[in-house]
Order: sequence, then C-alpha cells, then structure tokens
Amino acid sequence: MLKLSFADQIEYRRLAGRETLVDTPPECAYLWEKGKAAGFHLGRLYMVNEPLDPGAGGAWHRESGDVWLHCPPSPDSPVRSQTNLLHELAHADLRTRATEMLDGYWDGEAATWRRARELAVEWGVEHLLTQEALEGYLQETEELREAHRQAGSLAGSLCPYTAGRAYDALRIALAERLGEQSWDHDLFEAVLYGYCELPDYDAAAVDFDRSLLRGCWSLGYTQNGDFGSLALPQDEKSAGCLRYAMQHITPASRRRGDWKAGAQTIRYEDGEVTYLFHTRVESDADLEQALWALNSALLDYPQASVMAHWDCFGDDLERQSARIYHLSVHYEHPDGTSRTPITRGEIWVLCQPRHEHSTKAEAALQRFIRGWLRVQGLRCGRLSEGLYELWSWQEAAQRRRSSAPVAEASSAA
Ligand SMILES: [Zn+2]
Repeated sequence: MLKLSFADQIEYRRLAGRETLVDTPPECAYLWEKGKAAGFHLGRLYMVNEPLDPGAGGAWHRESGDVWLHCPPSPDSPVRSQTNLLHELAHADLRTRATEMLDGYWDGEAATWRRARELAVEWGVEHLLTQEALEGYLQETEELREAHRQAGSLAGSLCPYTAGRAYDALRIALAERLGEQSWDHDLFEAVLYGYCELPDYDAAAVDFDRSLLRGCWSLGYTQNGDFGSLALPQDEKSAGCLRYAMQHITPASRRRGDWKAGAQTIRYEDGEVTYLFHTRVESDADLEQALWALNSALLDYPQASVMAHWDCFGDDLERQSARIYHLSVHYEHPDGTSRTPITRGEIWVLCQPRHEHSTKAEAALQRFIRGWLRVQGLRCGRLSEGLYELWSWQEAAQRRRSSAPVAEASSAA
C-alpha cells in the first residue's frame, strides 16, 4: 500500500488548513529519550491533536522509525498517550515485521503489549501499564483479531491491511444507518457476525463502501451511476446470497491463486499488459468465481494508484435474455514506481438467468458492484454494444497472439 511518511501526512493536513502538531508533554519526552538511549529503532516523534489513522492512538513507522502519537485534550489523555507511546516503543524495540497474515499481525500486537509491560517495569513507570491493564489489552487484541477476521471475510480478503479497512468501513456503514442514534456496539457485533434480526441494519454487512478497502484511487470521468431499467430488485435474499458468497471466497482466495493466471494476456511493445478474464454466472458457485475475480482485480497491486469503471450491457430483464457485466481496471505504476508499465484488467461476466436462482445471484452481483461506485462509474448500454466491445478485445488478443513471435524475436535481437 502507498505509505506516506508521517511528516508528509502532517504537511498535507497543514496545507488543508489543519494545524495538527502539538508540543510534546515532558512525560512523553522522558519515555522517548529512554527508548533512544536503549538503542531502539527510532526516528522522530510527532505529537498530534488528531489521529493520522482514524481509530488509532499512535503508530511506529517500520522504515524511518518515526512515531506519531495522538494527544487529545482530555484530563485522562496524558496517561493514555504515555501508555500508547510505550506500545510504539515496544514495536521499535521488537522491530515488528510486516506480515500478510492476519494471525501473524495480531500475534505481533499481543507480543508488543507484553514487551510494553516489561518496559514499564524496567523504567519504573509501572502505573502506565499495570498487569491488570495488560490483561485488558490482550483481551481486546483477541476480540479485534476475531472482529477483523470476520470483517475481512465480508470483504473477501484476510490480508491484515484490507481486513482492518473493512472493519472501519463496516463501522461507518452502521453509523450511517444509525443516523442520530448513538453508537451501539452490540448491534455492530450482531451485524458483523450475522445474527442481527433487523434487516435494515443487517444489510450494512454487505452494503458498505468497498472503495475504502484501498488507500488510493484515481478518479475517472464519472463516479456513481445506476443500473436503470436493468436493476434487479434487492431484498434479504440477495443480501444473504452476497454475504454467503463473500465469506466463501475469502478462505479460497489463496487457494485459487492469482486471478491473472486464469486470464488471457495481451502484451504490447511498450510493455503495457492487459489481462482479459471471462466468467459466467448461472449458479451460486459461479457467483463466487465471478466475485473472486472482480474483488481480486480491485484489490490487486496494493501500491498502485487504480482507476476502475463498470459497464452493464443488456436489453431487458426478461428471463433467458443475457446481460454482460464488464469491469475495467487500470493500474498506474503497479509496483509504486514510475518505471513499471501500465497494467490493465478487463473482466467480463456473462449472466444468463435460467431460473430464479440465477436471478438472485445476479442481483447479488449488482449489489456488490454498487458497493464500489463512490469512486467508480457505472454505465449501462445495449447488449449489442457490449458484444461489440468484447469482440474488439478478442480481436486485439488474437492479433497480439499472431504477432507475438515477431515481437519476441525483435526484442531478443
Ligand atoms: Zn501495535
């Protein structure tokens, strides 16, 4: 994922008129000096009056060793800030590694809390993290591990970064539904774990803003859009169908491997690459395959800035008449540097409902697509338009294939 330095993040806020830096309280400066003297991997300490990452109290930057720490203006905040600083110093001492595994990430958090407690004892500030408080933090860590696992499974990914963003996105979705009402943690758990009996709220588990799952998007010419006359009715069945399918693709995501491996590849002379992926939806199992490909493509290349667009082609909603869904994803600088060529994904999903079951799966697909539209456009067109576009891509792939040996020979020379 795109990792801005803390200094950059503070500077962006300053340019937007928000002064975030505050003075370092002497108690925090004392702990910081202790950490420096002990030789921990530390850069600069930034005390801020708003979290740089919503919901967090602080963070340690793995490369630079910098730390930001939230210092809210409330009476009990000095102690909480110092406790959080102990936690970040423990990260710097342990040099916690980046991991792509959810359990690895939360094991690291638990180990960090234990190390923070040892530091508190060694440095004579036990009151900042008593044994009892440590047990509370460890319990909270376990609860968050399970909640993030569950949130990740609704987002189709158990990578700790995506699972964390899914957790935040789900909280926002429920808060929006609650409106003026105050936050209800029990209701949130019921929605998250799927035992909420209030359909209005239960749907927050599938109708959240999926664009929040990535840190960085490029915006195209349009955002939003709707299915118009091609919109299928949405009810509890399509919500349940989408929830079930997302939960099933999550553990399978690793097993299925890379979506690009199952795609046709078009390589151009300038290095640009396009992956064409085709799939059809006639059953729930097909829906899982389609959602897996679409979701993987939308979350792929975490360091890239991504632009995506949807099309829905069809003439009517009659049974037996086909609709074609198309996702076009454009990854600029896939590995985060300007040297790498542009990469595209073109994913085509054919829906031809033969019975009520496949209509439900297609309705769930539309529901999934709506989740992305805050940053992506959706355009509807005639089936003939979709066929023409699909045909053009196929011809391009065909031409490339027949010219490929020549291109290879010239590049080898
Ligand atoms: Zn931590």
